[in-house]
Amino acid sequence: MHIIVLAKQVPDIERVKFSPDTNRVDRKSADVEINPFDLNAIEAAQQMKEKMGGTITVISMGPKSAEAVLREAIARDADRGILLHDDKFAGADTLATTYTLAAAIRQVGTFDVIVCGEKTVDGDTGHVGPGIAERLGVSLLPFVSHITEVTGDKITAVAETSAGSLNIEASFPLVLTGTKEINTPRLPTLKEKLRARKAEIETWSATDLGDVDASNFGRAGSATWVESIEVPPEKKRKGEILTGEDAANQLVAALDKAGLLKG
Ligand SMILES: Cc1cc2nc3c(=O)[nH]c(=O)nc-3n(C[C@H](O)[C@H](O)[C@H](O)COP(=O)(O)OP(=O)(O)OC[C@H]3O[C@@H](n4cnc5c(N)ncnc54)[C@H](O)[C@@H]3O)c2cc1C
Repeated sequence: MHIIVLAKQVPDIERVKFSPDTNRVDRKSADVEINPFDLNAIEAAQQMKEKMGGTITVISMGPKSAEAVLREAIARDADRGILLHDDKFAGADTLATTYTLAAAIRQVGTFDVIVCGEKTVDGDTGHVGPGIAERLGVSLLPFVSHITEVTGDKITAVAETSAGSLNIEASFPLVLTGTKEINTPRLPTLKEKLRARKAEIETWSATDLGDVDASNFGRAGSATWVESIEVPPEKKRKGEILTGEDAANQLVAALDKAGLLKG
């Protein structure tokens, strides 16, 4: 079985800042980490490999630092890590991102399952999994919260929708997007981490992607663009501590003064 995992590096979303000059994330403003949903995707791939045998290839498109994401996956039993890194890929929206990732997947060759996270904690669109399925012309198992069974040619799973839980089944090849509930990712051992640190990471540029139309990469291939970014002003909250036996009366007077007791 050949399983491909797509994994993205994201900034620490609590700390990250935007650069008003470039309308982009200021990468230096916060630490980076693997998208938490992608740890679940890797764990799902690990479990499939343990049951069925085979290999796991992990692909990430991003800056050089995204190598760390691939090493994280290799520490968790992935066999091969490919970083898609080229200035031509920069500024991509989800349309251009899926074009580049799909081109890389075609170069990697045949696969049974592609596992993605349901979404990222920064872009948060959830477009990439469905976009890849569409571009490769394979089935999509979205929002999977539980994998019921994997056999040599199909997966049965539970998918969460706004209408409730669905039991769904699809034949290989397919794309699966997993929710946080799909599993609890294991931690790699020290030995696995040390092995991953020394592992070879392949870096592919636009010229490694075979028969592609370069105008579909990056900013040039994006159907959307950011005109400007505004960070909403921080709202200052006024706090007042009321004490003493008269606190309740003071509170009523304050609410009345603020016009909150009318009507
Ligand atoms: C106009 C515009 C300009 C942008 N410019 C830039 C830019 O200059 N630099 C930049 O870094 N981002 C940029 N982005 C963001 C970029 O488009 C998204 O990061 C990317 O398309 C993934 O979208 P998402 O984060 O919503 O992923 P989702 O669709 O929410 O992710 C779902 C899953 O897809 C997989 N996945 C997503 N992205 C990747 C990836 N890169 N590699 C491997 N797997 C992945 C993961 O499994 C993930 O869990 C831009 C976005 C827009 C709209």
